[in-house]
Amino acid sequence: MKKSYFGEFGGQFIPEIAMFALEELENAYFSIAKSAEFRDEFEYLLKDYAGRPTPLYHAKRLSEHYGHEIYLKREDLNHTGAHKINNALGQALLAKKMGKKKIIAETGAGQHGVATATAAALLGLKCDVYMGAVDAQRQELNKFRMKLLGADVVEIHDGLKTLKEATTAAIQAWVNEIEDVFYVIGSAVGPYPYPLMVKDFQSVIGKETKTQLEEKNLKADYIIACVGGGSNAIGIFSAFLDDKSVNLIGVEAGGLGVETPYHAATLTKGRAGIIHGMKTIVLQDKFGRIEPVHSISAGLDYPGIGPEHSHLHTSKRANYHAITDDECINALKLTTKLEGIIPAIESSHALAYLEKLCPTLSGKKTIVVNVSGRGDKDMNTVMEYKKGTIYG
Ligand SMILES: *Cc1c(COP(=O)(O)O)cnc(C)c1O
Repeated sequence: MKKSYFGEFGGQFIPEIAMFALEELENAYFSIAKSAEFRDEFEYLLKDYAGRPTPLYHAKRLSEHYGHEIYLKREDLNHTGAHKINNALGQALLAKKMGKKKIIAETGAGQHGVATATAAALLGLKCDVYMGAVDAQRQELNKFRMKLLGADVVEIHDGLKTLKEATTAAIQAWVNEIEDVFYVIGSAVGPYPYPLMVKDFQSVIGKETKTQLEEKNLKADYIIACVGGGSNAIGIFSAFLDDKSVNLIGVEAGGLGVETPYHAATLTKGRAGIIHGMKTIVLQDKFGRIEPVHSISAGLDYPGIGPEHSHLHTSKRANYHAITDDECINALKLTTKLEGIIPAIESSHALAYLEKLCPTLSGKKTIVVNVSGRGDKDMNTVMEYKKGTIYG
């Protein structure tokens, strides 16, 4: 199997003109980013800047509620509020070492944009963030944050004006200025080597979780993470892929239900295709046109998925399920009431799966849920949802 593939998924489906940039990136990744010097600096930033390691917290009241031992990996406690900072720091540091002057990024919820703008400020790099106009409106506070951090926010008015269009525009901008610009991709997606590199920079979540479980003399029976492009999930899965006794579960956005057209449940409803430089499973119509997606959470609102997840799905190493907007909001409320932790609506999809899984399990199981981010950014969405105005 070619090295750029995970099973039959992955590859590099990009215009010829961008090939040399991917080669340059591949070389830099395997030389610079694998060097001891880079790793020391990266680890230092993760620790003293981002605030790692994040705790593996025993959620006692959720455990009582569900009758199993529930542990929360607290990525919500990272600087800027989610796991995305791990990857943004890794890629921005690599860009700097490669001598690039500017980094660009796409963003949906604004979380990756904020993380990238933060890393750019820290490392003294120029930064342009591409954002769909609808998302920019939905996430006005994040737009303001990025500007305050010194980034330029480029609003995209094509199509549905959300993440897919922003990504296409960012790829275009990258191709236009390919020698000077480093494209910081926000999830484990895109052409090789991005999915591999993003997994690497997010694998700290899995490594810490593994060590923390060992320290508590525990063995995880289940690990659950939400899946948009799949970076927080592959980050926590990475340390457990070889241990078949650990069940890995990815949770997709079921929106208004996977039987309606309003969802972003890629693995549940999609089939193989090409999107954003990779072969992966994609939500598409019978002519192969990419379908519009819906989720209450901007971070999961993506019609594709990282190629390694497509492979884990078809090879059945991991299982993927969809959670609706309603189920997600109920889980957000429950976690907040029982634990005093307001999870991001993305992460609430993973928490909501407990409701389905726990009643089917016998004995007492140890279940780790990756709380990919905090919910502060989502309070407007939750308020509007309660008023019933979110679907316009
Ligand atoms: C962006 C985001 C996600 C989805 O991205 P993945 O690459 O699938 O992890 C999940 N949770 C939060 C909090 C996010 O900001």
